[in-house]
Amino acid sequence: MIRTPIYFDNNATTPTDPRVVEAMLPYFTERFGNAASRTHKLGWEAEAAVENARALLARAIGADPTEIVFTSGATESDNLALKGVAEAYAGKGSHLITAQTEHKAILDSCKHLEKRGFRVTYLKPRPDGLIDLEELADTITEQTLLVSIMHANNEIGVLQDVAAIGHLCHEQGVLFHTDASQSLGKVPIDVQKMQIDLASFTAHKLYGPKGIGALYVRRRDPQVRLAIQMDGGGHERGFRSGTLNVTGIVGFGKAAQICQEEMETERRRLTFLRDKLKNGLRSALSDVTINGHETQRLPGNLNLSFAGVESDSLMARLSDVALSSGSACNSGEVTPSYVLKAISLPDALALSAVRFGLGRFNTEEEVDYVIGRCVEAVNGLRELSPLGER
Ligand SMILES: *Cc1c(COP(=O)(O)O)cnc(C)c1O
Repeated sequence: MIRTPIYFDNNATTPTDPRVVEAMLPYFTERFGNAASRTHKLGWEAEAAVENARALLARAIGADPTEIVFTSGATESDNLALKGVAEAYAGKGSHLITAQTEHKAILDSCKHLEKRGFRVTYLKPRPDGLIDLEELADTITEQTLLVSIMHANNEIGVLQDVAAIGHLCHEQGVLFHTDASQSLGKVPIDVQKMQIDLASFTAHKLYGPKGIGALYVRRRDPQVRLAIQMDGGGHERGFRSGTLNVTGIVGFGKAAQICQEEMETERRRLTFLRDKLKNGLRSALSDVTINGHETQRLPGNLNLSFAGVESDSLMARLSDVALSSGSACNSGEVTPSYVLKAISLPDALALSAVRFGLGRFNTEEEVDYVIGRCVEAVNGLRELSPLGER
């Protein structure tokens, strides 16, 4: 039996795994202590739970637990990384490098820094979504403090070669930040092998709760300094004050642990389902193109353009499937996604783009159902629209 709506929007958020919820529950009630309370058992219990979660997350990325700073999510982590580095190293340089396809949390932090006198280069990726490493190398100057390039893109799923970028940055003596919100728990991350200095995460993209995230901050070779963005009680080694979200942190740790244990089987399963969806749609329909690199992408992500079909009309017909389009609605006007524009997709194809985000709780039966519904809807819409528009 198919239960609708079918959730194919796992790049936007994921349901919290029931095992994660179960791990969190005691910390709302019996073990509600403040992790900073040093005078009684409830405080110690909460602190132990936080440190356990910190160790689980650290293990998942090859870091030391003392290098993990808990935040409210990747938006905060991105802000802390970029503004924190820029302000702390302002005497050393004034230039940052990022990409046009980054999340708004990165792009808007960069805009903020530009207003304060920093210079930012926004690299345009190749049409397959990958950053040109030679171009990146050529862009680094003596003034460059930080390169921030995401691991996996949230719209087109493209996986950057972060290890190559990390090595390049370290050869040049430049710090490297990566927004790894989409990739944590889905594909391997190793901050040593990839020479990552800072990395942003958010639990709700990996079957954990919303409102909890982390920033990895390298402590050795080199030790990264950050200008504090949140003053207060000095929690998280002073990097981020505020009473710790103990339940969220426990859930984040559990979510990271489950992903770690199940990564290889889940990666194979999702790649199979994603390819089945891709092949099913492309064999039944003409003029279906893939946005972003065909193979160097997240296992569960597929971004397709159906020529001649507006994605909003398509999604309206597929009201029993939760999907996302490649467009944004700004004050009533539909505009193509900036990510698709950055990879040089023509506007018409960008407005025809649909993101399929498969996750842990999707089944093969659901994929078969969506293929059928989608083929029917695309054919119906193409019959309505005059030929030649494609
Ligand atoms: C979801 C996401 C964010 C923001 O995460 P929040 O939990 O909303 O703070 C940042 N970057 C990427 C790549 C994301 O996918």
